[in-house]
Amino acid sequence: MELIKGAEVVAALNKRLAAEVEKLTEAGGRPPKLAILRVGEQPDQVSYERGARKRMDKIGISHQEYVYPADMEKELFYQEFDRINVDSETDGILLLRPLPAHLEEKELERRIDPAKDVDGISPINQAKVMAGEKDGFAPCTPEAVIEVLEYAGVNLSGKRVTVVGRSMVVGKPLSLLLLNRHATVTICHTRTKDLPAECRRAEILIAAAGRPRLLTAEHVGEQTIVIDVGINVDENGKLCGDVDLASLEAAGAASAATPVPGGVGTVTTSVLAKHVLEARLRK
Ligand code: NAP
Repeated sequence: MELIKGAEVVAALNKRLAAEVEKLTEAGGRPPKLAILRVGEQPDQVSYERGARKRMDKIGISHQEYVYPADMEKELFYQEFDRINVDSETDGILLLRPLPAHLEEKELERRIDPAKDVDGISPINQAKVMAGEKDGFAPCTPEAVIEVLEYAGVNLSGKRVTVVGRSMVVGKPLSLLLLNRHATVTICHTRTKDLPAECRRAEILIAAAGRPRLLTAEHVGEQTIVIDVGINVDENGKLCGDVDLASLEAAGAASAATPVPGGVGTVTTSVLAKHVLEARLRK
């Protein structure tokens, strides 16, 4: 089984993006700018923010962090949000989620300027992804899966792809991105009757269930390409995906697979950078 390493996808994508940013600034243009909004100190959000900042620095995208207390008053937060939303020098906005419940995420999804919605949370961008319109922003993780498949040289047209998971953040938008590239898509979830059979039919199997090592050799054919989106912590506190790679290896299943960590997750922030650059260039 060939391992598709996220680092290789990231290196190729970063190089392309950095060259485009350089071209823009050499022509006298302002570099793209990302605003990162964080409410509270949730460790996974702090760590994601750190990773995003580093990635933007590497590519030449400027960024500004806005950090607010978890008990911030709703109207005050909306005022701040609206101010950043209309700031002409801010090209993209990353709102780290989940937000404290009183800030009503749904309201902010409607409020964000779709042109700055680089993480694809606005209903306008969701509709654009559904319609296959090129100027919409998909959420970064599903698009990272597409980047990984493209890097691996996979032509999606006509391929049988099974996606395990139907969330609004990963499974659903990913299924639409695949469909827009002419794949034949099956979407599985907790009510799917025979998960192993649905998965075994796939030429490309994508796991986005959030269940540690849910998919084993029983779900995977010999020639299947397996993309693991899951980021889970197992019973021993170890980071793992939704796919049991050891089981696949022992059975000789899968022609290629992404590891966790070191797979799709690492590509996500480069897709974010790509969106910020696109937002800047569209101005
Ligand atoms: P989620 O909202 O919990 O959705 C999980 C989906 O998987 C649901 O649709 C659920 O079905 C389905 N599912 C759960 N258990 C299943 C089972 N035993 N059999 C079949 N389907 C099952 O999770 P999410 O936000 O989409 O995230 C999925 C995974 O991706 C998580 O591990 C998360 O940490 C990871 N993730 C990674 C990144 C990244 O950058 N790589 C970004 C975001 C998320 P129902 O709809 O029927 O409940």
